[in-house]
Amino acid sequence: MKASVDKELCMGDRNCNMLCPEIFKYDEDELMSIVLVEEIPDKYKDLVTQSAEECPGGAISIEGD
Ligand code: SF4
Repeated sequence: MKASVDKELCMGDRNCNMLCPEIFKYDEDELMSIVLVEEIPDKYKDLVTQSAEECPGGAISIEGD
């Protein structure tokens, strides 16, 4: 599984950062959340999926499983 954040859609509410800080971090310079890892480790897949589902901007995309 890979995840990405669309800068145009990120609203900066940091919900993903709070749900899964090991994967999502807010970039103060870019004013968007970024994904910290290339490949999502198994133990974080459920939280990353939840983050994408709950993202208010629909900014998080997931590829693979
Ligand atoms: S939950 Fe979505 S809108 Fe909120 S900071 Fe994360 S990527 Fe951006």
